[in-house]
Amino acid sequence: MGLTGIQIFKLLPQTNCKECGVPTCLAFAMNLASGKAELDACPYVSDEAKEKLSEASAPPIRPVVVGKGVRKATTGGETVLYRHEKTFYNPTLLAATIDAGIKKADLEKQLKVWNAFQFERVGLNLRPELVALKDTKGDKKAFADTAKAIAETSEFNLILMTEDVGVMKAGVEACGFKRPLMYAATEANCDDMGAIARENDLPIAVKADSIEALIPLTDKLTAMGIKDIVIDPGSREIKQALEDQVAIRRAALKAGNRSLGFPTITFPCEMASNLDMETLTAAMLIAKYGGIVVLSDFSGESVFPLLLERLNIFTDPQRPMTVTEGIYEIGSPDENSPVLVTTNFALTYFIVSGEIEGSRVPSWLLIKDSEGLSVMTAWAAGKFAGDDVGVFIKKCGIADKIKNTEVIIPGYAASIAGDMEEELPGWTITVGPREAAHIPAFLKAR
Ligand code: SF4
Repeated sequence: MGLTGIQIFKLLPQTNCKECGVPTCLAFAMNLASGKAELDACPYVSDEAKEKLSEASAPPIRPVVVGKGVRKATTGGETVLYRHEKTFYNPTLLAATIDAGIKKADLEKQLKVWNAFQFERVGLNLRPELVALKDTKGDKKAFADTAKAIAETSEFNLILMTEDVGVMKAGVEACGFKRPLMYAATEANCDDMGAIARENDLPIAVKADSIEALIPLTDKLTAMGIKDIVIDPGSREIKQALEDQVAIRRAALKAGNRSLGFPTITFPCEMASNLDMETLTAAMLIAKYGGIVVLSDFSGESVFPLLLERLNIFTDPQRPMTVTEGIYEIGSPDENSPVLVTTNFALTYFIVSGEIEGSRVPSWLLIKDSEGLSVMTAWAAGKFAGDDVGVFIKKCGIADKIKNTEVIIPGYAASIAGDMEEELPGWTITVGPREAAHIPAFLKAR
């Protein structure tokens, strides 16, 4: 259980020096207790106090790193029940399963197909992270060979799925360098699996048949010195799975139950008989509160909506995604190229720039800071007003790059044209299309 604000306060220097950004040590202690401050913000905490306070300042759900390389990712680390309270930090990791007995050629083909599922969105590369390698026949060699092949020939990180200690050892020897997640320690094998995880410094998942049964197992692993734990309460029925996820999150956050303060692993692949139903179940578990979601397969129509959903859920609701104000060149524009202006909401930028690129008409795209609001919202909030946009166009330096003095504004902001003309004498203000999808035809027709 975390420390209270008063307990934390007693461990602080109590000089009220304000260097942490709040007026008193008591206020800092309260912020620390509620997860609103980081302990590092106070430079004067003694090492002894730091040790005691680390529990209070640690997130109630431990962040666990899985994998190495470009698809290395963290799961857990969450501090709130609802996204609007603060934010969710670490997106649910997506995995698909491979049977350890798969033929080499089939494995290569499968990895190639899965690797192609990468999508550019708002400047980010969205892709699944994990392959869950499943031991079905207790064949150590097949398990190790396939683990090695996945680790060495693909960017994917691994979940090693076996309850056989010998098979797990072989798998870890083959791909331990890629920091796989071991799945799973159970009541029957917890000591041996725990020893492998500790020796190799690997994250380990614990599987039980209820939330209550998880507690002695996580306590046992914690006592062995293992910190990077992922938990599976064993529910494979959709309603029960949802209830368990919520109960675990509440127990960790509201009751301060450290035995359940770990990210979860969930298995839609074992809850449904087809990929569509698995995808729906996965969508529910991304929203509530799966740390890792394991599917039977990745397909474009399944993984793309899940990646988009998790992007939306795991962005900070208090910070709109933005791009920097300025002049953006699309397709090597010159002094005769058209000039368009829009807001700095990241989605607006990427959609508009994508359509301009698609038109193959080299253009200048001016991005005006609108505090991350889209065109209509920014206009309604006075963040994309004619005089402001006019001033921005004068100051941004576009006049030095072009011969013409015409600027194309978004159709939804047509009403700012008059104010812009006043602010920009001698310029032509052209109202462009309302929908970004009509930009290519608009530019080509000019
Ligand atoms: Fe107190 Fe440390 Fe903050 Fe200074 S920096 S007010 S000592 S908590």
